[in-house]
Amino acid sequence: MLLLFDIDGTLLLNGADAHAAAVIAALCEVWEVEPPPRAHGVEAAGRTDQAIARDILELAGVPAEEFDRRRDDFVLATGSHYERLVPDDLSDRLAPHVTDVLSKLAVDQRYRCSLVTGNIQPVARLKLGAAGILYPFAEGQGGFGSDSDDRNELPPIARMRAGQLWNGGDAWPAERTVVIGDTPRDIACARADGALVVAVATGPFGADQLSEADVVLEDLRELDAALQSL
Ligand SMILES: [Mg+2]
Repeated sequence: MLLLFDIDGTLLLNGADAHAAAVIAALCEVWEVEPPPRAHGVEAAGRTDQAIARDILELAGVPAEEFDRRRDDFVLATGSHYERLVPDDLSDRLAPHVTDVLSKLAVDQRYRCSLVTGNIQPVARLKLGAAGILYPFAEGQGGFGSDSDDRNELPPIARMRAGQLWNGGDAWPAERTVVIGDTPRDIACARADGALVVAVATGPFGADQLSEADVVLEDLRELDAALQSL
């Protein structure tokens, strides 16, 4: 089973302040704009960094086409600003039971751990490293906000990469893939790809708002049991 973990709201709680600051610093640098006052009001949960950045930039008066033209510069700049801003230690932001759950899954031969997150790839890896939970996630694996601005495109990208490492080059099958996330957008991206989905109510959405998932959990403690029930 390929496990595609979301990061914010799922593995880490309230761990995105420096990340938001890095996105805004990158936008200001690349497009030479002032930070728009309403930037922090842009909806972020379950969205990709690129989609969020495009909305913030529109608030600053820069049209979406301009974002598309320089998105590679944006991704690079966000990575370097986050490298400068990331706290040394994010282990106090770990969601309940994450350390225990990942340490078991990482050595369980039934599972392959990977990521599907709206974070651009360097931010994701730095963030997990600062939280001490990068070790289950092989470099080069996963689907990230730097791969697409549309979260629905990320699970197939993660399955393609998993297949190169673990499935003889064929994409990892969707029916043996589980997205684990905290928002309706995580559920939607799994459904769009034909993958299974476990939702956790540790982010901004309650269990009642996540009922479209195959399983809804209060937190990750029962993840192993939930995976076996799928
Ligand atoms: Mg999330």
